[in-house]
Amino acid sequence: MSQTRTETESASSEPNLLPEGWEMVIGLEVHAELATQTKMFSPARNQFGGDPNTNVHPVCLGLPGTLPVVNEKAVEHSIRIGLALNCTVQRCIWARKNYFYPDMPKDYQISQYDKPLNVDGWLDLPGGSRVGIERAHMEEDTGKSTHVGVSGRIHDAGYSLVDYNRAGVPLIEIVTRPEIRGPEQAKEYVEELRSILVTIGASDGKMEEGSLRVDANVSVRPTGADELRTRCEVKNVNSLRSLGRAIIYEARRHVDLYEAGDSPRQETRHWDEEAGRSRPGRSKEEAEDYRYFADPDLVPIDPSAEWIAEIAASIPALPKERRDALIGKGASAEAAAMAVGRQLDALALAAIEAGADADRVLTHVANNLAVDGAQNLDAGHLAELVKMETDGALTATQAKQVLAEMVETGSAPGAVAAAHGFEAMDTGELETLVDQLIADSPEEWERFVAGDDKARHKMQGFFTGQIMKATKGQADGKAVNQLLNQRASR
Ligand code: ADP
Ligand code: MG
Repeated sequence: MSQTRTETESASSEPNLLPEGWEMVIGLEVHAELATQTKMFSPARNQFGGDPNTNVHPVCLGLPGTLPVVNEKAVEHSIRIGLALNCTVQRCIWARKNYFYPDMPKDYQISQYDKPLNVDGWLDLPGGSRVGIERAHMEEDTGKSTHVGVSGRIHDAGYSLVDYNRAGVPLIEIVTRPEIRGPEQAKEYVEELRSILVTIGASDGKMEEGSLRVDANVSVRPTGADELRTRCEVKNVNSLRSLGRAIIYEARRHVDLYEAGDSPRQETRHWDEEAGRSRPGRSKEEAEDYRYFADPDLVPIDPSAEWIAEIAASIPALPKERRDALIGKGASAEAAAMAVGRQLDALALAAIEAGADADRVLTHVANNLAVDGAQNLDAGHLAELVKMETDGALTATQAKQVLAEMVETGSAPGAVAAAHGFEAMDTGELETLVDQLIADSPEEWERFVAGDDKARHKMQGFFTGQIMKATKGQADGKAVNQLLNQRASR
């Protein structure tokens, strides 16, 4: 039984990028390399980079007489992913997927087919839509071929090199239902998925190193129709930006074909980021082309209820829960997403709980804190800093400067501010200064009081500037403006 629902409504808040009357249908397949020490079926190291063919072992080289042994940690990570994606975790069977590529030494890939580990889940996105997860199954990665020639493509290569360091690296393939309706939702899904994988420690999620790879299945149909039309699978999408562009290009290509009385054919296509277009690859294999069958070298995996419960208990708070915690403290959805995305939400939450103003805390998190080092910042110190700002003891500019030093030295904000001579300027002192200036500048004040918005704004600059000069920048510009307006409306 499917536990998912389609969210056509909420997903269609994106502007329609297709000609009137057409909508996109997108299903994503995400491959994520699992963060294990060793490979899926061999003790060779699972590590990115390294000299070619140094992280290898007879099993992942497919040498005769070798037998695969399942990496327990990879299964644990995969179960954790399944649970985080609200899947049912079930008894699963390893299958051989047969196809010939020189970077796959056994000429088959050990994968899962009709009995995958995780099925029927879903992922709720920050924007409110829900994407159904069809399955998330385990498999092994292939090696890497380098075609040496003018274009880097196999056709005009003089020779090819192959590196088996990646062969046998544990992978999870996470497959959505065809429920995604546009490029923005697709990107949102990948970002949220990536954030979950990183949060639970199952993958480093690095798209740039190929630990996270996305294939987009794209088709179009008349808006609101139920049918699923012929899809193309677009590969070689190496960034979120490419993903969005590839989806739009491909969907428009389909619409053009239909509108010309033609139709797309099911195939794998490769995205060419530079040219901004997809090109046909091999015509898409049907499942039977792979001649799947249960791998006789491996027993099924039947995770016990206790093991699953143990793994479930080890899952930390997921990004959604963390965003919601901040939103509950008054953060906007955007600010909360930003803080969680930068892994600074726990800090922000603690500072807010210590009594600091949420908006100011989140402004610092978004603009004034580098991710590196900021995790060591004491939340109590951050709260104190924000309180100094709120009380008018520090201007926003001064606070930023103090914060930078707090991160560097670990000092408390009071000490840093004092060392800089950022003394607390109390409200009474500032009032006296403002009143004095008004008395000294009758013409300017006249223009401020009588002027239209524009004139007033201009004169406001004059008064604030004078006060800043008099206080060597220690006055809070916002407080000065407040005083001016207050005096003017008397
Ligand atoms: P394969 O094994 O050939 O990759 P799957 O049935 O596993 O095929 O589907 C792969 C992906 O294609 C899934 O994400 C699914 O949601 C998506 N998909 C299936 N049909 C369509 C369609 N008509 N348009 C867009 N995506 C589709
Ligand atoms: Mg597939």
